Amino acid sequence: MTTLHNLGFPRIGARRELKFALEAYWKGEASPETLQSLGAELRQRHWAQQAGLDLVPVGDFSFYDQVLDTSFMLGNVPERARDHGGDALDVYFRVARGRSAPAAEAGCCAGGVAAGEMTKWFDTNYHYIVPEFHSGTRFVLDASRLLAQLAEARAQGVAAKPVLLGPLSYLALGKAKDGSDRLALLPELLPVYAELLRLLAAEGVDWVQVDEPVLATDLEAPWHRGFEAAYAAFAGCGVRLLLSCYFGPLQNNAELALRLPVAGLHVDAVAGRDEVQALAARLPADRVLSLGVISGRNVWKTDLTALLDWLEPLAARLGERLWLAPSCSLLHVPVDLSIEDGMDAELRSWLAFALQKLAELRLLGRALREGRDAVRAELQANRDALAARRASPRVHRPEVRAAVAALDADMGRRRSPYPLRAARQAEWLKLPAYPTTTIGSFPQTAEVRRVRAEFKAGRLEEGAYRDAMRAEIVHAVQVQEALGLDVLVHGEAERNDMVEYFGEQLDGYAFSRFGWVQSYGSRCVKPPILFGDIARPRPMTVDWSAYAQSLTTRPMKGMLTGPVTILNWSFVRDDQPRADTCRQLALAMRAEVLDLERAGVRVIQIDEAALREGLPLRRSAWQPYLDWAVECFRITANGVRDETQVHTHMCYSEFNDIIASIAAMDADVITIETSRSDMELLDAFEHFQYPNEIGPGVYDIHSPNIPAREHIVALMRKAARRIPPQRLWVNPDCGLKTRQWSEVIPALEQMVAAAKTLREPA
Ligand code: GLN
Ligand code: ZN
Repeated sequence: MTTLHNLGFPRIGARRELKFALEAYWKGEASPETLQSLGAELRQRHWAQQAGLDLVPVGDFSFYDQVLDTSFMLGNVPERARDHGGDALDVYFRVARGRSAPAAEAGCCAGGVAAGEMTKWFDTNYHYIVPEFHSGTRFVLDASRLLAQLAEARAQGVAAKPVLLGPLSYLALGKAKDGSDRLALLPELLPVYAELLRLLAAEGVDWVQVDEPVLATDLEAPWHRGFEAAYAAFAGCGVRLLLSCYFGPLQNNAELALRLPVAGLHVDAVAGRDEVQALAARLPADRVLSLGVISGRNVWKTDLTALLDWLEPLAARLGERLWLAPSCSLLHVPVDLSIEDGMDAELRSWLAFALQKLAELRLLGRALREGRDAVRAELQANRDALAARRASPRVHRPEVRAAVAALDADMGRRRSPYPLRAARQAEWLKLPAYPTTTIGSFPQTAEVRRVRAEFKAGRLEEGAYRDAMRAEIVHAVQVQEALGLDVLVHGEAERNDMVEYFGEQLDGYAFSRFGWVQSYGSRCVKPPILFGDIARPRPMTVDWSAYAQSLTTRPMKGMLTGPVTILNWSFVRDDQPRADTCRQLALAMRAEVLDLERAGVRVIQIDEAALREGLPLRRSAWQPYLDWAVECFRITANGVRDETQVHTHMCYSEFNDIIASIAAMDADVITIETSRSDMELLDAFEHFQYPNEIGPGVYDIHSPNIPAREHIVALMRKAARRIPPQRLWVNPDCGLKTRQWSEVIPALEQMVAAAKTLREPA
């Protein structure tokens, strides 16, 4: 009999209950007891919703982040967060969120505490708190949280399978603050893990899921040896280990995974489908093979019949040793499709969120145990839904396919090389040295958000809405002219989100009401659902930008989101390669670029904030991704005349290893978020001899502090030692929408003053 299990469940709550409880607690509006009892209620509900599975994850619930929980469980709490008083929750959130000095002084403890660094969890949009190490890091077990959740689960009659982040992944995900080798800490770490496993064994736990997603990444030989040492050390701990890998195939780590002395291996049978047969053939006879057959990364229904065709022979071969699960934790999908009352029934019939995915899993289990006939009607309904999706004219538009098929390299090529364009642009735009600009958004005041919400809810009519937004644009232009900025922006008041705004206007996109996915802590995103061929029925930004340009003689930047970013921040279709979907987006955005140009907009910025985020886990897959990503940007941007200046923007990231691709985009200007790096991010551009213009962010907009002119001048002088000054722009980091006008104006005054200083002969 096939065992059914789950790797992890979303903890935020179908209606984001955890988010609201956390935020109330942080504001001091809810007691710790209220927060704790909400946590218990969510765990209880989520375990109940996983009923019918043979093993249910326990320990996957977290108030903030499962990696941070692991750090606390291992006693690896940064020194700076200890000894400030407060209870355990205080200490926990101090690491998660930091604490500013004034807030700390008002409360129980003195001094500010910097938050733990946050970074992306593999190739998802979830962010974890990076474990901090140094050569002297020592670990001490604190299993209280896990044991308490285990006791709770058992009291509820749950077939509990504790979930741990494995030691190698834990070390790999962390950072040694002193530059020491974090893998050297493994001998310190292993006894603590072993102690934990023995403790669980003493509690009568049978199976423990140990997540080692680093097995889906490139691992050097010392890490392989670390795996061998670790799992050999756990062999006598009295529990059975299910070693879990997800987010990709094992590839060259497969030998290692098969060799480790564990009782079972979970693999991602969606992303790694191709290697499953070989794994099954080579699996030692006493091992369980858990196949993650239902995608935990997208929102589509599984083709259950096709899956059964593939699974039945495997089930015959493996018998009881075959387990089935979602590919990874369901953390990365929304909770419940059935509460989506606003979505049309047809589209809904194609989708599955976490609860629906578990229903699919149960159905597969029944089909394998009792035969397909036992679930004949359900399988038929599943086939019908998928057939309707395959045949739907909403999904397939021949004219879009034809346009993608007709793409040729010329469409991605500017008419002249950069030096020639730069000369023409200088003549046309008449910009001074060190031109000043901002990255696009201006403060989204409560009033702006209210007006937008009223309009969306149908309580404000179009004309009144347009007038209100135009008034915002007028204000933004007046402020920028008074400041003396050189290239203006309209301020993005009409946008709540840089992807949703475009998704809402493109055909082929749908939106959920409750499709929230945790991004970090209490922060959730609601990725739009890209379900069909993409078409742009009408211009999306031209009215706003043309209006803004009509108010000033200075160049007004048209403001767009690039195709790669739109793709990477959406749930995308599973029935064609991502590259093809991206090309469709590129064609739609290209049409917008050309319409902006026609409407007299002379500078167009195309944000590619998430280009780097889309990098595959394996190095060998980087270049193919970068090739099509760059191609898509070029299709979008490069149809314009020489005089039209193309900008792109990227958020804070490591540029060194992708700089050639960034250069290949051939934007006339790139602005980057860089202030926190003290201009070090420019190294990559300097060493590569990046040929076009760059605007390094000169102040951190996340801080309410007003930057001093001298500080900006000093930063730019530093930049000018790396990049020829005639190719430098002066701008802040991105995200001014999160600040107040009263902070933005004085800060930009300093910035413009700094640019004037820079222009003076030395
Ligand atoms: N144009 C956007 C802004 O200025 C860019 C946001 C981003 O980089 N993520 O806010
Ligand atoms: Zn940015």
